[in-house]
Amino acid sequence: RAKSEGRHIARFFDPGMQAAADRQAALERGLRDGLALHQFVLYCQPQFSVRGRLVGAEVLVRWRRDDGALVCPGDFIALAESSGLILPLGQYVLEESCRALARWTGDRTLGRLKLGVNVSVQQMRNPDFPADVAATLARSGAPAARLCLELTESVFAEDVHELTDRMHQLCAQGLCFSLDDFGTGYSSLSYLRRLPLSALKIDRSFVHDVHLDPGAGPIVNAIIALGRQLKLEIVAEGVEHEAQRSFLSRGGCGALQGYLLGEPIPIEDFERMYSAVGVGHA
Ligand code: C2E
Ligand code: MG
Ligand code: MG
Ligand code: MG
Repeated sequence: RAKSEGRHIARFFDPGMQAAADRQAALERGLRDGLALHQFVLYCQPQFSVRGRLVGAEVLVRWRRDDGALVCPGDFIALAESSGLILPLGQYVLEESCRALARWTGDRTLGRLKLGVNVSVQQMRNPDFPADVAATLARSGAPAARLCLELTESVFAEDVHELTDRMHQLCAQGLCFSLDDFGTGYSSLSYLRRLPLSALKIDRSFVHDVHLDPGAGPIVNAIIALGRQLKLEIVAEGVEHEAQRSFLSRGGCGALQGYLLGEPIPIEDFERMYSAVGVGHA
């Protein structure tokens, strides 16, 4: 008894844990200040059809800290989610993405792209989210049909009726949904036909060794076949090598995203690089 209490007390005052908690608190303050100071910037990664045509792009947020460091989402999204800051951060990303879509309207190349925006399960949980999206689209003048919200399988843990309702409210505005990192979560296959989805994104862990591991190839081919049967577009993420590209192309995958085709770059650079007519900056 004394021993377990001792251990309990020792754990409570563990200086290592205290240091970790301090770091978390400092990071959270940093995120909060970063939002106020507009330190979050949008990067954009192109998506190409297997025939090589630019068909879309994904928005990936970065945090440019005041010390100049560029922080990737893997180092702050989890904390943004647990602290609730993902709601204002997600709204900021959505707003900036819609402003880009509005600028791109009329451009022969950019005006035809689908722009993928990652949405956290917490945003989907918010009953005001559909109204917020509608207001953001209206304010920006972005064509809703060009916007594709990316959800991960973590949404499957939510109330399915509430989730489908909310998705339908959003789809009614003209946007679409894709299921991100497909295959990594607990993909309940029944969700695939119940939810209004337009695309599946094959997780890069499967793409990674598709041409090396005799187990990964069949899984990828099965995902592609499943998606095609369900009339979903299939996007492979994390395509780094020519051998992966040709495997995916042979298997009937629709679109490819990855370092082989283009890295995420600041959205202004993306516009300059791919714009057919030149996009004006207000
Ligand atoms: P994701 O949505 O699956 O995005 C793809 C990730 O793969 C990105 O990482 C991208 O930079 C990386 N990637 C792209 N091509 C390749 C490749 O060829 N090889 C490898 N190894 N990686 C590649 P990133 O930008 O670090 O983002 C990580 C995750 O953070 C995203 O995964 C997404 O879940 C989340 N995230 C990013 N931006 C946002 C956002 O605005 N809101 C929310 N809620 N989550 C975001
Ligand atoms: Mg994504
Ligand atoms: Mg993904
Ligand atoms: Mg991923």
